[in-house]
Amino acid sequence: MTNTPASGGDRYEQLRDAMLAFRDARDWKQFHDAKNLAEGLSVEAAELLEIFLWKTTDESREMPSDPAVRAKVSEEVADCFLFCVLMADAFGIDLVEAAMKKIKVNAQKYPVEKSRGRRDKYDAL
Ligand SMILES: [Mg+2]
Repeated sequence: MTNTPASGGDRYEQLRDAMLAFRDARDWKQFHDAKNLAEGLSVEAAELLEIFLWKTTDESREMPSDPAVRAKVSEEVADCFLFCVLMADAFGIDLVEAAMKKIKVNAQKYPVEKSRGRRDKYDAL
């Protein structure tokens, strides 16, 4: 990963370090075992999902233009991301590298010529 001042890696490392400093200042690492982190991520994902509870698909498509909804979504995706940062740290995973690797894996599972415009799972393409 490059360390140029404006690189994504640099921003990620700053964010990760800020999150770990936040955690360590509160002595919360003792609570951040893998099970609790997975549960926390799941709870935050549910909080994100709750924003869309009982909305129709058409209503949900209009939601990004609502500043109040966008603010709630911003909070919950940030919560989810921060739990991913903590989980990656707990397992010694480079989250950016892992995500880049996953994009490549998904690109092989979903070749453009077979998957473009389709929502089928890779084994049904
Ligand atoms: Mg939350």
